[in-house]
Amino acid sequence: MSDSNNKDLREVHQDINDKAEGIHDKLKERATMHLEPVIDMHYQLRETAKAKEIIEKAMNLAREEIPKGHVATYIPELGKEDPHQLGICLYPLKGDKICLGDYNTRFTMQSVSKVLMLIVALEVCGLKNVFRKVGMEPSGEAFDSLVELDVSNSKPYNPLINSGALAVCGLLLPEVSFQDMLRYTRNVCSDAGIELNEDVFDSEMKTCSRNRSIAYLLQSKGIITTDVEDTLRFYTKMCSMNVTAESLANLGKKLANDGVCSLDGKRYMSSRTARIAKTLMLTCGMYDGSGAFAIKVGIPTKSGVGGGLLSVSDKRAGIGVFGPALDAQGNSIAGCKLLREISNELRLNLFYDPEWNSDQDAEENVLTAMKAASVM
Ligand code: GLN
Repeated sequence: MSDSNNKDLREVHQDINDKAEGIHDKLKERATMHLEPVIDMHYQLRETAKAKEIIEKAMNLAREEIPKGHVATYIPELGKEDPHQLGICLYPLKGDKICLGDYNTRFTMQSVSKVLMLIVALEVCGLKNVFRKVGMEPSGEAFDSLVELDVSNSKPYNPLINSGALAVCGLLLPEVSFQDMLRYTRNVCSDAGIELNEDVFDSEMKTCSRNRSIAYLLQSKGIITTDVEDTLRFYTKMCSMNVTAESLANLGKKLANDGVCSLDGKRYMSSRTARIAKTLMLTCGMYDGSGAFAIKVGIPTKSGVGGGLLSVSDKRAGIGVFGPALDAQGNSIAGCKLLREISNELRLNLFYDPEWNSDQDAEENVLTAMKAASVM
């Protein structure tokens, strides 16, 4: 190599080093800049009045989404809900409970109950037995899909979609009764008023041919060995338990505290079970909307077509939301917007980033571009 070539190379290296130093300086500057908000993270939730004001504002923004959504009608009884309802309960581990709007209105748990079925199955049947029957991967399909189950000829993708939850019910049925599950639900939700909503249960049992097909498919593959109709009834009863946003916040708070009630120190599930439930809520809790929700909101959440959302801000708060108007994926449309707003404002995102562009139009553009490029 000639001297002049060597010189060129040295210049290039020098240039790269200069640039790297420049970048390091910039990063150092930013790190100091961000220190304060990060240290400050727990502050907002303790400031109840301020947090309440933030949530009130978020509720107003979220209400604007309601006309874009629809209540579920494939379960006829759910079609009778007033789509304009919206309520939230946020229960911090340290600080006062914040309840707004229709936080005390009863609605059916629907798929939020899949978290409870998973918790009890992990506790009663054990981790190995559960994951012998279901996987732990997002499906990318609608919640009631049976395509991937049939085509891939294996077990359901995860326990938070219908096929997976039905498989879990097949495990639970020989071990616990619905009454046992109801009792546990009342305890873990700190809500003695939770009952089976007979009207919603009857309505769904008359129209659940899709779930029935899934259950028979699971039987044909040997994934459930229990009676199909009994399994279906057990699953549908779990979906038809009447909760409130407040009862979901109580449950979320115990999950946030690794399975222990912060008030009386009582343990409701092992910390391993709580951790698995939270992880699957983050990756699979919003069906085929899970990835985008994780990016936009970053709080492990499980939705139900009754309009409920159970969210867990780990080590910080349990959140319950009710808003029966749903988006295309079957998730509460105003509820998702509400969580997105408070996640930004109260810094609840698991991966909180003070630089995240709060301009939501710009955010949408990035997400659309990522989807188009098949990154998501
Ligand atoms: N009971 C409903 C069903 O099985 C629950 C679905 C949901 O909430 N996404 O279709």
